[in-house]
Amino acid sequence: MEKAVFFDRDGVINKEIGDYVFELEKFELNESVVVVMREAIEKDYKLFVVTNQSGIAKGVYGHENVDKIHRHMTKILREKGIQLAEIYYCPHHPDYSNCLCRKPGSLMLEKAVARYGLDVSKCIMVGDRDRDIESADRIGIKGVRIESNAPLEALLPLLVE
Ligand SMILES: [Mg+2]
Ligand SMILES: [Zn+2]
Repeated sequence: MEKAVFFDRDGVINKEIGDYVFELEKFELNESVVVVMREAIEKDYKLFVVTNQSGIAKGVYGHENVDKIHRHMTKILREKGIQLAEIYYCPHHPDYSNCLCRKPGSLMLEKAVARYGLDVSKCIMVGDRDRDIESADRIGIKGVRIESNAPLEALLPLLVE
């Protein structure tokens, strides 16, 4: 069975700016994620992004903005030799509709586990909010909480062969 590292997006992969990131110029990569992702690939982890994007439900931006940011993110990571397996995002917000995907819900993680045949006991979820960790807890994945925008090198010892 495969193993994976799941990354929250805002505050982990790119800088949390205290507002929605839906314009390319506001997407600033946390450079340390490159080190961690490369090491994870080296150790045969698949890489996923799981992100709440409730700005869509609120009408602040659209799916096309998220797609554009994600194409940009995919491109800059690929230029650094990093291939993401999949990016999952939840466009919902409980003020407008209920869903199972918004973290702390675990549906985004469950989809990846089912589709890629992941062994949850070997997976890691990295996030900067309690809800990221709770999402992982719900399906038995180890959650690692970091401070928003913090360097990620502390994750390196958690990656195993
Ligand atoms: Mg975050
Ligand atoms: Zn959702």
